[in-house]
Amino acid sequence: MARIVVIGAGVGGLAAAARLAVTGHEVTVLERAGTVGGKLGRHRHDTPEGSWHFDTGPSLLTLPQVFHDLFEATGAKLDEYLDLVPLDPIVRHVFPGGGPALDSCADPAEFTARVGAAFGDRAAADWQRLWRRAGRVWAASHRDVLRRTVDSPRDLAALAWRLGDLAAIGPGRTLRGLSRRHLADPRLRMLLDRYATYTGADPRRAPAALVAVPYAELAYGGWYLRGGLGTLADALLSRCLDLGVVVRTGATVTRIDAAGGRVHGVRLAGMAAPVPADVVVANVDALTLYRDLLPTPRRLAALTDRSLAGFVLLLGVRGDSGLAHHTVFFPRDHDAEFDAVFGDPGRGVRARPAPDPTVFVTVADDPAVRPAGHEAWFVLVNAARHGTAAGAVDWRRPGLAEAYADRILDVLAERGVDVRDRLAFREIRTPADLDAATGAPGGAIYGTAGGLLRPANRGPVAGLWLVGGSSHPGGGLPMVTLSAEIVADAVGPAW
Ligand SMILES: Cc1cc2nc3c(=O)[nH]c(=O)nc-3n(C[C@H](O)[C@H](O)[C@H](O)COP(=O)(O)OP(=O)(O)OC[C@H]3O[C@@H](n4cnc5c(N)ncnc54)[C@H](O)[C@@H]3O)c2cc1C
Repeated sequence: MARIVVIGAGVGGLAAAARLAVTGHEVTVLERAGTVGGKLGRHRHDTPEGSWHFDTGPSLLTLPQVFHDLFEATGAKLDEYLDLVPLDPIVRHVFPGGGPALDSCADPAEFTARVGAAFGDRAAADWQRLWRRAGRVWAASHRDVLRRTVDSPRDLAALAWRLGDLAAIGPGRTLRGLSRRHLADPRLRMLLDRYATYTGADPRRAPAALVAVPYAELAYGGWYLRGGLGTLADALLSRCLDLGVVVRTGATVTRIDAAGGRVHGVRLAGMAAPVPADVVVANVDALTLYRDLLPTPRRLAALTDRSLAGFVLLLGVRGDSGLAHHTVFFPRDHDAEFDAVFGDPGRGVRARPAPDPTVFVTVADDPAVRPAGHEAWFVLVNAARHGTAAGAVDWRRPGLAEAYADRILDVLAERGVDVRDRLAFREIRTPADLDAATGAPGGAIYGTAGGLLRPANRGPVAGLWLVGGSSHPGGGLPMVTLSAEIVADAVGPAW
């Protein structure tokens, strides 16, 4: 039996803690915030009309089997803890200039038919060809990348990719390049571009292998959790406590003790005595871990671009808008939005709040999250990270957040959904707020954006492991849950 300390109670940290506890280890989770869940955050707002409950992070659960597997592996049934609601449409896509919307769904044949009905036979045939290719990429990544440690470029190269896999993955090609090659309809190209941002990346630079992301969503479905996505954090906490994990909130780890090439424990803010540990599992951002928590700061070998951040509005809305659960309102000029969000110093383009962004609206038809006759809206816009460096925006600049919130409501009105005179209240969450709440550097949603190679799960000293969205295999709820499986398997059982 090893004494294991998990730093951070995000989804990756809690999932790792539960898996390690069930294999006989003594596990303590140390979380600096007052609650668990990390980016899977929640917020309650009370008004005379009643209580409003918002998810402040994820709004869509994909790859539900990953969560079934987690609960099964820890001796429980997911359905006893969570109420999964399949979504159809998963997302309603509304394109600029009017014209038909496109509703995504989990039935590939039905979705292709919807593409055909909205955009014509040529678009449907294009989509079908892309879908076949996406399926091959998904199968290869699922088999070789998503369930094992990948520590270095050499590991990736050594994978026994089949020739067909490589042709489908298209190493060196970007997602944008793939869409230009396969999709003639500009609306389908926009749809594919959006999936790069699901991993925090710019489609013009992200690898074509990200075509696996829409495959995972559209083959296995998109889900809501009744009561809000945040109920997943409750369920994971409850699993951990049942398995004897000690969970301490308000406990900030300031340093990892490591000497002689292996970990010995961690230090907590405000406490002189160290917390001893044979194994440390870090759920903090990889950048923070390498820079701030190791006795000697190290450079992250595999650090590529940082993920984009998000600007969020939580709206109490009077009346019924008739919106789908998820609606994406695309802008006229997608590239202008990516230029604003990512900046490009090489071309003299500074990052800034995109004046005409894609707007993602979530409205759950769930009486548990809003007073009767009202709606709780979660509005998300891709945003540059918080900071003063090139490629970032200082979201604390006086007046900026309020002005940008006004702009987003105007954009929504221009796209046919005007809620400005139906607001009971509005709250704003900027990238700077996410950074402060969860320790995500600059409010980056997905840690390190980009390719197949992220910071490894194996840390730079023996006994140190990384879980969560900034390490392999990446961000998003299912991926961070898979990272916990990889790490628990690598640590191994106590017996
Ligand atoms: C606005 C938004 C929308 C999103 N939408 C989706 C979506 O629809 N679907 C989806 O699948 N994913 C979505 N995501 C991504 C998803 O939320 C994340 O990938 C996932 O929750 C990250 O989990 P994690 O394990 O990396 O831990 P994190 O959530 O990053 O948690 C890390 C934890 O470590 C704690 N910590 C940090 N430093 C210390 C320290 N020194 N000591 C102790 N504790 C510390 C933090 O407080 C935090 O609780 C979204 C995220 C955001 C922000």
